[in-house]
Amino acid sequence: MIPAPSELRPCRACHKPILWTTTVAGRRLAVDPVPDETGNQACHKDHAGVWRSRSLTGAEAHAPKGWEDRFVPHVATCPKRRPVQTALPAMPPARAALPPNVGRFDPARRRTTPTPRSTRRRS
Ligand SMILES: [Zn+2]
Repeated sequence: MIPAPSELRPCRACHKPILWTTTVAGRRLAVDPVPDETGNQACHKDHAGVWRSRSLTGAEAHAPKGWEDRFVPHVATCPKRRPVQTALPAMPPARAALPPNVGRFDPARRRTTPTPRSTRRRS
C-alpha cells in the first residue's frame, strides 16, 4: 500500500515527505513514503487509519505479510540527519589528571575489606 500524499509530513531536517508510523513498541518511526524492497520495516495501515511498522531485522521477525509493504526508515536516507556516532570516542588515558577538587572514583580505590556490618549493629 502506498500512503496518500495527505498522509505525508515534511521531515523537519530535510523537508522531504515522510510517513510517520507507529512501531510495535508504540514508538513513532518515520519512513520514506515509497515502498522499497530493500526496506527493513514492514508497514501497513490499520483499520483505524494508523500506519503501523514493524522491524524485519532480528531473529523473531517474520517475512512481510500480504498486506504489508517494505519501507526504509527515513533516518537511513535523510540527507540532513544528525551524524550517527560511528566510532567510539578515544578513551581518556587511564590516569588522566583530574581537577584538584575531584576525587577519583574507581575500583582501585575501593575498600578491599569492608567494615563488617554485624559488628556495628546499634543496640
Ligand atoms: Zn529528512
